[in-house]
Amino acid sequence: MIKVVKFGGSSVANAGQFRKVKNIVDSDISRKFIVTSACGKSDNEDHKVTDLLYLCHAHIKYGVPFNNLFAVIEKKYMTIKQELNLKIDLDGEFEKIKKSMTKNINIDYLVSRGEYLAGLCLAEYLGADFVDAKDVILFDYDGKVNFERSKTALQERLKTDKKIVIPGFYGALPNGKIKIMSRGGSDITGAIIASLIDATIYENWTDVSGILVADPRIVENPKRIKYITYDELRELSFMGANVLHDETIFPVKEKKIPINIKNTNEPENHGTMIVDDCSERDEQKTPGFITGIAGKKDFTVFNCTKLNLSNEVGFLKRTLQLFEDFNINIKGIQAGIDTVNIILETQEIEEDRYIILSKLKEIIGFEHVSAFDNLSLIAVVGRGMSKRPGMSGKLFAELGLNNINIKTINQAIDEINVIIGVDNKDFEKAINCIYDRFITRGENK
Ligand code: ASP
Repeated sequence: MIKVVKFGGSSVANAGQFRKVKNIVDSDISRKFIVTSACGKSDNEDHKVTDLLYLCHAHIKYGVPFNNLFAVIEKKYMTIKQELNLKIDLDGEFEKIKKSMTKNINIDYLVSRGEYLAGLCLAEYLGADFVDAKDVILFDYDGKVNFERSKTALQERLKTDKKIVIPGFYGALPNGKIKIMSRGGSDITGAIIASLIDATIYENWTDVSGILVADPRIVENPKRIKYITYDELRELSFMGANVLHDETIFPVKEKKIPINIKNTNEPENHGTMIVDDCSERDEQKTPGFITGIAGKKDFTVFNCTKLNLSNEVGFLKRTLQLFEDFNINIKGIQAGIDTVNIILETQEIEEDRYIILSKLKEIIGFEHVSAFDNLSLIAVVGRGMSKRPGMSGKLFAELGLNNINIKTINQAIDEINVIIGVDNKDFEKAINCIYDRFITRGENK
């Protein structure tokens, strides 16, 4: 059994957290590959190292002195070094970084130093080998990871039986230049490593004990999801549930490597297991209807009408092309006999709203176009909804009983997700009603 374990920023925020990480790693011999984020926040007043590094870059760019800012980063790592009695030459590392901090610094290099330094400290503290991500996470020039080259490179570096620490969030382009991933990307590094070494499991250690059925800022004390499929998690993430980086699933899904979300501050908690297929695990073989509920506010619907629209070939294509021309991501489409509704994130169309509305009429040829704001979308996700009659009926009835008007409805053929649109003002109430009926009152069967 080989486990890849990834620790998020809060798990390596200070020396106390490093000690917890060591206990976790040492308690299981199969925890062989350790991926780390940069040091995160110790408390609300504190700052993430990655944020500070971005800020340093902005200072360099505008010619503002950055020394005081960089000193905050230095102090953070120095304190960890001192409290853990490490020998690492941090002064030398800081000198190297500071020398590179000139007008034409590569931002990716600078920002990746948070993970790099955390990785060096953690490797020494754990008595593990340090493998720099630039040597094993190899991108092609199009920004995609080249799994073949990365696998060979990683194998070449596995010389001892020791545990291996790899910094997350970055890798290298074919010319050796450092390239970072999008924010939160250490999750992806963990998944890539898990895939490269065919791990038995990918443990993702963070500061919560798994994924919750609903957002705790909306529902009081929601339950934890014990098992969830990759597909269900994708649906929830798309609608704003963000425990893991959205793209984490891709490298492990193909090989069906489970992801276990665990809490560094409560290691005995089982956390959430993300798997390809839950059928073996579903306690009574029939899962509950709902696995999770997520949602987002502030969508706008462009309602476009034209008589006999559904009989015109290519009309929809031309309509969608217009949004592509403006580089706008469409979040949903509903087409009727004489109508097309395009659902968009309000902030994305803020700038071009009027020009697009006028082009929809003048160029595409709609007779009427209008925009409706303040729409919230709520995704009710569950593998248990598939092929089980009555679920949508109960869901809609519950909202009706609570006087919540449903404005849009969407369900795909795999039936694991119903997306309903409600007015922004009903958003929190709708999520609470659904949670209450199906989870609290136990009508989830
Ligand atoms: N340190 C990076 C960030 O804050 C990457 C990560 O932690 O996953 O986004």
